[in-house]
Amino acid sequence: MTVTTPPNTIHQVSNINTTFTIRSLRCGIIEHPIIPERVVFSCAGRHDRSRYLIVAMESNEGVIGYGEAACVPIWSGETAVTAAQLLDDIIMPALVGQSFASPEMLCDELDRILIDNPFLKGAVDAAAWDLVGKTHQIPVSDLIGDREPVKHIPTRASIGAHDLQHTVALAQEFRAMGIRVLKFKTGLDTESDARRLAAVREALGNDPILTVDYNGGLPTAPIAIDAINALLPFDVSIVEQPTPRHRLAMMAQVRQHVDIPILADESIFNRAQLEEAVACQAMDILSLYPGKNGGLTRSWQMAQQAQAAGIPCVIGSNLETEVGQAAMSCLAASHSAFPVDRYACDLLSAMYYENNILTPIRPVHQGCYVVPTGPGLGIDVQWKTPSA
Ligand SMILES: [Mg+2]
Repeated sequence: MTVTTPPNTIHQVSNINTTFTIRSLRCGIIEHPIIPERVVFSCAGRHDRSRYLIVAMESNEGVIGYGEAACVPIWSGETAVTAAQLLDDIIMPALVGQSFASPEMLCDELDRILIDNPFLKGAVDAAAWDLVGKTHQIPVSDLIGDREPVKHIPTRASIGAHDLQHTVALAQEFRAMGIRVLKFKTGLDTESDARRLAAVREALGNDPILTVDYNGGLPTAPIAIDAINALLPFDVSIVEQPTPRHRLAMMAQVRQHVDIPILADESIFNRAQLEEAVACQAMDILSLYPGKNGGLTRSWQMAQQAQAAGIPCVIGSNLETEVGQAAMSCLAASHSAFPVDRYACDLLSAMYYENNILTPIRPVHQGCYVVPTGPGLGIDVQWKTPSA
């Protein structure tokens, strides 16, 4: 691979013409239930089914790319229905029939015509990358990467705020699947959080890496500092989003008073928020993913930004299915801002969904997600799209 383009241009391969013309855009709502015993609930609510929007973008050459909008209203304010409506009313009229020099240009246009709604934009952007990659029969990770894409990405498992017994049972189940990093949803009851982690350490010993995710559930800095310090005996490696999403300064204050690295998730959707978080030193690690950031393009740009500030990145998730996960893994595999052997990513689909109606589930192998290597985003989507 020859890298000749400037570092802020996502497209890294100079001899590929990424221009495409959109002949049609179609979408449909797809619902996948979560395996009941593994339902994730936390300070951010209960996630027991995924009602997401699938977007199919067809080029003038008849190539079709796919993307997924993992809409969770309590998390992003988007639903599959609002996403479908905005696609119909705003995005289709503006994009269909138009040519773009690259998916980056398309992303700029999306931001020009519609504010916010990052998960919807992320689906359209991913579909464009899938389309461009398939057109040239090249994996997107080869198009955008600054390193040889890794083949396996260690994944975390996410364990909801279940009771003690269920928490330990799930931790044992996931550990038996080879998953070493276990993330616990905390903050609903800080006293029981400590008991849950103690029980997991007792059952599984020192081997698993334990992380916690408060989903912004600790309302003040003193409460957050006390809650986090209470977890010190259990050797917790990462504390994710302890304080509310719009309270960056509070998270920075907490970070100064605890010894466990802080991972920022809900506080940082976009480049402006990342800039502010870097300026106030609010985090040690950054969670990125195409849905939250408004596209693979934007996540890539933010990964560059974080890397320049010396902040490593991980992939977070809204329990994307295989389609969304393909775009997430493509970025993590190919960009050096993601030290995947040091920090596991949330590539969770195989653990939470029994099956997928669009494409086979990629099983977890020795605790790792196996990165797709085919053209585009690398997965074969079988979907009879609704007519335009
Ligand atoms: Mg999180």
